[in-house]
Amino acid sequence: MLTINTGIIADIKKFETHDGPGIRTTVFIKGCFLRCKWCANPETLEAFPQLYFVPKRCKSFGECIKVCPAGAISMLPDNKIDRKKCTLCMKCVDVCPYSAFKQVGSLVTVDEVIEEVEKDKPFYGLDGGLTISGGEPLYQPGFTRELLKRSKEKGISTVLDTTGYAKWEDYEDILKYTDMVLLDLKHMDPAKHMEGTGVSNKIILENAKLISKTCETRISLPLISGFNNSNENLIATAEFLKKINIEWVDILPLHSLGASKYEYLGLTSPYTEIGEINKEEVVEARDIFTRYGFKTTIGRMI
Ligand code: SF4
Ligand code: SF4
Repeated sequence: MLTINTGIIADIKKFETHDGPGIRTTVFIKGCFLRCKWCANPETLEAFPQLYFVPKRCKSFGECIKVCPAGAISMLPDNKIDRKKCTLCMKCVDVCPYSAFKQVGSLVTVDEVIEEVEKDKPFYGLDGGLTISGGEPLYQPGFTRELLKRSKEKGISTVLDTTGYAKWEDYEDILKYTDMVLLDLKHMDPAKHMEGTGVSNKIILENAKLISKTCETRISLPLISGFNNSNENLIATAEFLKKINIEWVDILPLHSLGASKYEYLGLTSPYTEIGEINKEEVVEARDIFTRYGFKTTIGRMI
């Protein structure tokens, strides 16, 4: 059961240099309110452990079929798991000698995470520290708050990497323990935002105003060709960000590095329909923000 002292995370990554200033340890919270069509982290969308199956590792050893209580596994690596039957018991993970199955996501305590974060303290220097990312960290607000609070108590700097889509009361509580927010902004038009992410941008824009008044905030702009890179949208974004006194805009061109994760989860990769953005489009987008006086990066923190 989840409490403020336990949460479900997808991963902890160490020595990250793009998730806030300096060298950072990034904790990926599982669960997200959005369903962006281009999401690079599909393993973070659901707030429970999931099963990866890596077809190229499967040697048809067959032990997994014997232990599966749901009869969900077949011999052939293609179409190996009937996901509708799978109960996520993870028995197949334990018996495969080739690690073709992997549990992605686990229940952890605040103490366990903070112990990992503290191990890297010698590398943080003046700027580095803990970043909470996702998914959406505020999908598990109590757990996220405790991680940030405990980190600050230990003198470790904190960054919150968020979609902006959560209750303001939760942000208000969490920002007391946050040194910097990396806030996603995906589209200024509510209908287009809904089309690309499954939710309206209304709450996000309202929260952006409040978050930027409360805490140092940098904007992360995922740049998706044909979705949000029109001049009209980029100018509307720049004008909104001027009004709320943002200094930095980090432009994140769409990449397809998450494609294999879709395969491992038995999902269809979205990247055949959404192509990668070309260099000219990225340069044009950056020029708009530069003309408006923003400091920009392609990627983050370079
Ligand atoms: S996790 Fe799913 S596929 Fe694996 S043994 Fe359990 S029910 Fe079968
Ligand atoms: S907000 Fe981030 S984690 Fe959530 S669906 Fe969109 S890209 Fe994925």
